[in-house]
Amino acid sequence: MQFIDLKAQFKSIEADVQQKINTVLEHGQFIMGPEINELEDQLAKYTGVKHAVSCSSGTDAILLALMALGAGPGDAIFTSPFTFIATAEVISLLGATPVFVDIDPLTYNIDPAKLEATIVKFKNTALTPRGIIAVDLFGLPADYDLINIIAKNHDLYVIEDGAQSFGADYHGKKSCSMADIACTSFFPAKPLGCFGDGGMCFTDDDNLAKVMQSLRVHGKGSHKYDNERIGINGRLDTLQAAILLSKFSIFPKELKKRENAAKQYTELFSSSRNQLSIPVTVNGYRSVWAQYSILAKDEAHRALIQSALKENDIPTAIYYPKPLHLQTAFKYLGYKEGDFPVSEDCSKRIFSIPMHPYLEWEDQKKIADIINQL
Ligand SMILES: *Cc1c(COP(=O)(O)O)cnc(C)c1O
Repeated sequence: MQFIDLKAQFKSIEADVQQKINTVLEHGQFIMGPEINELEDQLAKYTGVKHAVSCSSGTDAILLALMALGAGPGDAIFTSPFTFIATAEVISLLGATPVFVDIDPLTYNIDPAKLEATIVKFKNTALTPRGIIAVDLFGLPADYDLINIIAKNHDLYVIEDGAQSFGADYHGKKSCSMADIACTSFFPAKPLGCFGDGGMCFTDDDNLAKVMQSLRVHGKGSHKYDNERIGINGRLDTLQAAILLSKFSIFPKELKKRENAAKQYTELFSSSRNQLSIPVTVNGYRSVWAQYSILAKDEAHRALIQSALKENDIPTAIYYPKPLHLQTAFKYLGYKEGDFPVSEDCSKRIFSIPMHPYLEWEDQKKIADIINQL
């Protein structure tokens, strides 16, 4: 069994992908070819955002967003410790300081009440509160209505880390449309993935879009050898854009299948009597189910479940086994165990099971039967 079945997906679009790749091979514009604009236009329209700026990865998307917003030394940027390293890594890379805020135990996303309290605590310190990076973990958007109000009250910018949530909905709005700049990733395992690395920034702000377009090509000005600012080589490959155009054509259909698979899991686990916490569905939200993540009773229970599944050739994963405040790379921030109890508790109990649009009910039943017995 596959954790994410990319082969089944490829089979369903093989001819179209190959034709689109061939088109690129023939026109030969491997850097910033016509497929780049086409993809940006399609995804901007889909999210309802004015500008889409493609780039080399989800990590670089957040980096470009922070650079465009002027992040640097002395800035406190608030984010979740229960996420992939990339979210906070780029804050540090720019010399700004990640300030972690614990998560909501039901959604795994940043807890707005704790966010407000932490921002207030950071007023009148050596660091100046500047921005928030909210993460839409496992495909479920964070609570942007509250986050945006808090940001406005404290004069902070908001970045949406939508690396896992492209396609999700929040109160009638699409993921990647909910912040000053939103970022997504096209890493192969994400809901909309390419065949390598890729990412995209979204914004309604004309100036921020212009700056990010410049930053991704070495800070270019009116032409390639006119450089207005320090930037990066952060473009998306034309070939990846072509592949994404093909994958995007089946994306809405795949989202329905993901939703259906999630529903089936939830039904299959509803008869379980072994104290599992399965994902919540929140009114007004629609997840893209990047992962179906479950909390076991405790660490030992999780180990038991994982090994039983492994014996049956069923892969599982742990997102994330170590919250960011306990990572060696962030030791310099001075956090310690116990600082973010919800994140720490989740990291000990959480595990994810196979989740993709091509999952068969029989396989889901097999997985649930094993888990429900333990
Ligand atoms: C995958 C991911 C990223 C980084 O995306 P890449 O394309 O791998 O650089 C950032 N944030 C979150 C939450 C992610 O899951």
